[in-house]
Amino acid sequence: MKFEDLGLSKPVLDAINDCGYDTPTPIQEKAIPHILMSRDVVGLAQTGTGKTAGFTLPMIEILAGGRAKARMPRSLILSPTRELAAQIAENFDTYGKNCNLSKALLIGGSSMEKQIQILDRGADVLIATPGRLLDLFERGKILLTDIKILVIDEADRMLDMGFIPDIEKICSKLPPMRQTLLFSATMAPEIKKLTEKFLSNPREVAVSKPASTAITVEQFQVNVTPKNKNDMLHKILQREDVKNAFIFCNRKRDVDALSKWLHSKRYDVCALHGDMAQSSRTETLRKFKAGEVPFLVCSDVAARGIDVDAVSHVFNYDVPVNPDDYVHRIGRTGRAGQKGHAWMLVTKYDDKQLEAVVKHIGKVIEVVDINDGKNDSKGERSPVTSSVNKKPAQKKKPLVDKKQGKDKYSDDAPSDVSGFGDEIPAFFK
Ligand code: AMP
Repeated sequence: MKFEDLGLSKPVLDAINDCGYDTPTPIQEKAIPHILMSRDVVGLAQTGTGKTAGFTLPMIEILAGGRAKARMPRSLILSPTRELAAQIAENFDTYGKNCNLSKALLIGGSSMEKQIQILDRGADVLIATPGRLLDLFERGKILLTDIKILVIDEADRMLDMGFIPDIEKICSKLPPMRQTLLFSATMAPEIKKLTEKFLSNPREVAVSKPASTAITVEQFQVNVTPKNKNDMLHKILQREDVKNAFIFCNRKRDVDALSKWLHSKRYDVCALHGDMAQSSRTETLRKFKAGEVPFLVCSDVAARGIDVDAVSHVFNYDVPVNPDDYVHRIGRTGRAGQKGHAWMLVTKYDDKQLEAVVKHIGKVIEVVDINDGKNDSKGERSPVTSSVNKKPAQKKKPLVDKKQGKDKYSDDAPSDVSGFGDEIPAFFK
């Protein structure tokens, strides 16, 4: 199928052509015709499938026929994170460049005054995180009575982040006669309920399951202790041919600590987590995307939807608590058919999370011994590798024992297996 067959107009087709896209992705092929026919749509699709264009292109097409009034936007895209919202806004500009539509990006951590000025001028589309949208609404700065199209993007992430009550509140303020599109990688019962409550006879379109992202990503696991984690990461970085990498931590304070440590080892790193000022978050991401800094140490705020070309590696400094986050994290590499590499550091306290990850992705992760035979890893998870890797860095292919089972796990994990104690993981904030 070609984009021309989807019912899109010339200005939109020209913009797509300028992006260099040859053919629609499966989610675009399936969703765009329904959206253009004003149907509600539930899209089961993860990031990386082209779903943003899947809803943005037909929205531009529909909106191009009218004009917004001051403070009365005509469409609303809800996104769980500021970064993702900013990325959707960029997409909107790219695909809508020939259509003269206006947008307002309403996210926390940025000047509310400026956002209000943009709203006053009139916006065809609002791209917002739920908190900032409600804040502006409650201050009387925005009227939602003219919203004709609502998009709820990354609904599963909204659920993880506790945004479902906010989404319900927002939906209840919108006119009932509207078109609603909901995208989610998974269909948890809470999301199903949301679709039943707020969507009208939606068409369901689905593309490959979230766990299948890993096809182009080689995945490895290294057994470590909480104490030698940094050193082990350092060793992996030395032996791997890393062009650029995301390094994910579960906790914000570890993001800060690890980035400082790596910096002390002369790695060119930057840090990203939800406690940072929005201006630094944006600047950090810009630098990483532009290739000015090759390493981004981050919390899961960067795991979903953030689109950076050709990331060679993803490191899981911690095993994610939510197995779905593993899929999203490693989905930052191996994009667009390129080869990706994902490494995960695992301590003996991570058994439960590791088990959940393995179950979720449906495959065992190769365990690599990077100790070069010297057993300097007291208190590590029971070694499951039998040999020593002595191959040069570029030609990674350590001797590994692919068998990995629960029987090999040490069973002396403390009751707080997450290791968080009272700390709340970064991605819950
Ligand atoms: P998304 O799933 O929306 O995050 O999109 C992932 C990536 O796919 C983005 O870099 C898009 O620019 C790219 N993309 C979207 N649609 C297409 C297409 N039809 N052909 C090639 N690349 C695309």
